[in-house]
Amino acid sequence: MQCFCKEQSYDLVVEADFVVDPIWCGKCGCNLNLEEIPLTEKLKDELMSWVQAYSKSVIDEPGYIYEVTHQHNKNGIKLAEKVQSELGAKYTISFLLLKHMLSYVLKRLY
Ligand SMILES: [Zn+2]
Repeated sequence: MQCFCKEQSYDLVVEADFVVDPIWCGKCGCNLNLEEIPLTEKLKDELMSWVQAYSKSVIDEPGYIYEVTHQHNKNGIKLAEKVQSELGAKYTISFLLLKHMLSYVLKRLY
């Protein structure tokens, strides 16, 4: 996994963004290439669909942004748990609740 840390980081953060892979280094804050993380293809697919589903919902259903974001966070926590169990105890996985995206969308809507 390529990030800015000198030694390989085992500290990862799961966070959804609109355009990038949803896993970040918890130490240097670098966005990681999902392909380089030793996860099963199935879980990588689930992570990418999770990001894409949220982007789509925000565009299609802006009036339900609270519900959509709440559900998105719930699904994200489940995915973060799966990432943790696939990578094992050597890694520390954190999940960042999506809040900033909500305020960004609200600012644009109202
Ligand atoms: Zn790093």
